[in-house]
Amino acid sequence: MNRRRLLQIAGGSLAAGAIGTLAKKSDVPAPVDQVSGATAQTYSNATRGLPALKITNVKTILTCPQGGNYVVVKVETSEPGLYGVGSATLTTRGAAVATSITEFLAPFALGRDPANIEDMWQTAYVSSYWRNGPVLNGGLCGLDEALWDIKAKRANMPLYQLLGGKSRFAIPTYCHADGNTMEAVSASVSKFLEAGWKHVRVQLGGYGSPSLSTDPDFKAAGFGLPTDGFQNNQPYVKATLKLVEHIRKVNGDDVELIHDMHERIEPIEAVNLVKALQQYRMFFVEDPLSPEQMGYFKMIREQCSTPLAMGELFSHPIEWTGLISDRLIDFIRVGFNHVGGITPGLKIARLAESFGVRSAWHGPGNIDPINHAAQGHVDLTMPNFGIQEDVDLGWGPVIQEVFPGCPQMKKGYMYLNEAPGLGVDIDEKLAAKYPFQPFPAGTGFRFPIRKADGTQIRP
Ligand code: MG
Repeated sequence: MNRRRLLQIAGGSLAAGAIGTLAKKSDVPAPVDQVSGATAQTYSNATRGLPALKITNVKTILTCPQGGNYVVVKVETSEPGLYGVGSATLTTRGAAVATSITEFLAPFALGRDPANIEDMWQTAYVSSYWRNGPVLNGGLCGLDEALWDIKAKRANMPLYQLLGGKSRFAIPTYCHADGNTMEAVSASVSKFLEAGWKHVRVQLGGYGSPSLSTDPDFKAAGFGLPTDGFQNNQPYVKATLKLVEHIRKVNGDDVELIHDMHERIEPIEAVNLVKALQQYRMFFVEDPLSPEQMGYFKMIREQCSTPLAMGELFSHPIEWTGLISDRLIDFIRVGFNHVGGITPGLKIARLAESFGVRSAWHGPGNIDPINHAAQGHVDLTMPNFGIQEDVDLGWGPVIQEVFPGCPQMKKGYMYLNEAPGLGVDIDEKLAAKYPFQPFPAGTGFRFPIRKADGTQIRP
């Protein structure tokens, strides 16, 4: 639209003299705040060249296509065919997140302008008065990611372009080599290295290393449930050191090694293990401490320089701001779906950049493809990107069908497609064929994990 047409529209309901004076004085349109009411809206529309939008519907879509309960938010708008999708997945409490959307966020969002993402995020965030936590943040993330999807679709660009464009051609990822013997783990590492990965996480004895512990006394005593898991700390600590030594011998020094401690051992044991791992030149050691024991990070830092990653359980800003600004960690590992979406994710990325901390957003298979894409768009742009956790050889065919356009994992990189928006969608009809699973199925539920005497271990 040319300036003459813009002026005609802006002046439509002003006195002819007023617009004449305006045009004569400066030959530029009046600032929007000098125009009022319907004229201001008309002016604003003409300036952007796009009609005003309203949110007309917020859907909560529940699906369990391959082992995990996923919650997806679909925000529909007054522009026919224009909608956005966002991830509200919290596998361990999916139904609670769904309620937070259908009962609260959906009525909150209806009728609002989806263009004002920051305002929507801020007002939704405090709309419960009591805020934060993974349930409320999960719903907020679904809404937030859907709004960014809408904005980028309107701009006819993949989201990373709106965020500043690419800093790298694709997103380097790390994969997961697990096994019940050291030989099985090193064979898995070899397989990933041959397939092109450069960063591999190594774990021995299953998730939380339960197979390294035997015959817990609480089982014989009939304490807890027969299905309860268990872990003894010292077998885990000793086996982990032996494992990493073995991997370095068998797989060499070039592979970038990661190990996840899953927060389970006592803080002082964690200090000792992280210190002992320094000799193996780790890419990072993940989750050495539970969120309740973060005061020990200072002690770890004072004793060694093993790179540290932390944050997948975080949901409150107070948990990450000090760790980053005090340079107590090297990688921040929050998942966008646990902190409230792309909007807070971008702020965490920028804060971390100022303090030399890199990203390693949480991203195993219990994060759905929409959230992987959302995190991936930020990964592509941020200069302080570190590494992205991936789903190894990629999602299976069912998830790829339910989520058309989902990111692809190839040779140690994640690739997003170039479609406008997040680039990933949900096939609602297909998703309905894979119904949400009632608790605890579909949750990845693994707790409790107990010590030999039955004491609950806090992850
Ligand atoms: Mg972890």
